[in-house]
Amino acid sequence: MEGIRERKHAKIYVMGKRVTDVTTNLFLKPSVLSFKATFDAAFQEDTRDLARAFSPFINEEVNRFVHIHQGPQDLVAKVKLLRRLSHKTGTCFQRCVGWDALNTLYIITGKMAERGDGVYRERFLKYLEHVQRRDLALAGAMTDVKGVRTLRPSEQPNPDAYVRVVEERDDGIIVSGAKANITGIAAVDEVIVLPTRAMTEQDAAYAVSFAVPLDTPGVVVVVGRQINDARRMEGGDIDGVPYMAHHEGLIIFNNVFVPWDRVFLYKDWRWTGPLVEIFASFHRQGYGGCKSGLGDVIIGAAYELAKAIGVDNKPNVVDKLAEMVFLNESMYSAGLAASWEGSKLLKEGGWWVNPMYANVAKHLVARFPYEISKLAHDIAGGIVGTAPSEFDLKNEEIRGLLEKYLQGVPEIPAEERLRLVRLLENVSVSVGFLIESVHGAGSPAAQKIMFNRLYDYEKAGEIAKALSRVKVTVKWPKAPEPRRPSESEKL
Ligand code: SF4
Repeated sequence: MEGIRERKHAKIYVMGKRVTDVTTNLFLKPSVLSFKATFDAAFQEDTRDLARAFSPFINEEVNRFVHIHQGPQDLVAKVKLLRRLSHKTGTCFQRCVGWDALNTLYIITGKMAERGDGVYRERFLKYLEHVQRRDLALAGAMTDVKGVRTLRPSEQPNPDAYVRVVEERDDGIIVSGAKANITGIAAVDEVIVLPTRAMTEQDAAYAVSFAVPLDTPGVVVVVGRQINDARRMEGGDIDGVPYMAHHEGLIIFNNVFVPWDRVFLYKDWRWTGPLVEIFASFHRQGYGGCKSGLGDVIIGAAYELAKAIGVDNKPNVVDKLAEMVFLNESMYSAGLAASWEGSKLLKEGGWWVNPMYANVAKHLVARFPYEISKLAHDIAGGIVGTAPSEFDLKNEEIRGLLEKYLQGVPEIPAEERLRLVRLLENVSVSVGFLIESVHGAGSPAAQKIMFNRLYDYEKAGEIAKALSRVKVTVKWPKAPEPRRPSESEKL
């Protein structure tokens, strides 16, 4: 928190006003605390082992959020840690995108080195050491604003619709453009920028990856609004977000200078396809952990609310709870499968997730949180959308009446029921559990593209034909998309 308290050049805007200290700003403070949970986890008994790892790059223990995975066990530990951290925060803790960016660049620059271009590798390893020694909080900025969606970056009427290199100098490059929906962007030490899509030769100026501190001159951050966000300013401890919250924002690079030692991909568009695929699969795997952790919060709130009105053992409630558990554990299982089935992309390591199962995890996450939320709202009752404010409860004129009429079973006071209702509302109707689940790490269509690419339909057809003793093979002039190896398999 000290590290991000005073940043001379950081230009951060929230609801039209410049914020100089994100650690005390009422809007951003819950988000800073959520980031902080990733640091605290390395010192808390229940997460200490999961949140630490040994780094062979600096020969020291590091926080797992800056660790380069050394095997499937590390990938599994990631998913487990994310689930636990969701329990501690009740929201997205924002630090995983930068972590996934580190692991992606480790693999991509490693591949470049294996092909004879070691410059980027050397720079990246120096940067990694800088990050690991300081335990930095990193954002990963990938999603460009994209302008006209049907046009490639170099065809856009606004040439800055994708982040690009506008000038090359002896000491570095000047970049221009913006990245949208960037998780946790106002609360980080540094931001790693990655290209958002596979580029062609014409788009070479857009094939750029680099890292800059957030207070680099020319960087502007505009934080986005969220559902119920004004409650953070109310000063209560029930209605608002007395636990934690996260934020997303737009980061603008207004002719920003980046020294060469922080440039990890420069105009070599051929690497952009593999880079995007590797990063996306890393983040899709992680969703199996963090979103199932939020699912636990919601299942727990629904269960306690059912107890509060004495219906927790009614068959229809028990059935709904079981359905929620099934949906939640499915997301987690896919995240674990993606981890255990991980593979090595570099001679020296470079562990990556199984892309099929990572995409399955994310696709489940794009659907199941809505189902889980619906079931929780069903169990909890309409009060989730209509409960009085905590300030009504604190008003002595009506407190007694509310306590009498909001109470279910006598053992659970009305205020406790209201606390659970608000928790359920704040988590289950949140950007973190709903909208982020659909669009974060790529919208559902992106996963379906990967399913079609990775699944071998011809092979499945051969299996079916062998069993049914069908011998004819039809080759249509325009066959459906045949299996194509993933970008990383092609590396
Ligand atoms: Fe981490 Fe999940 Fe938030 Fe992504 S959505 S940054 S994986 S907590």
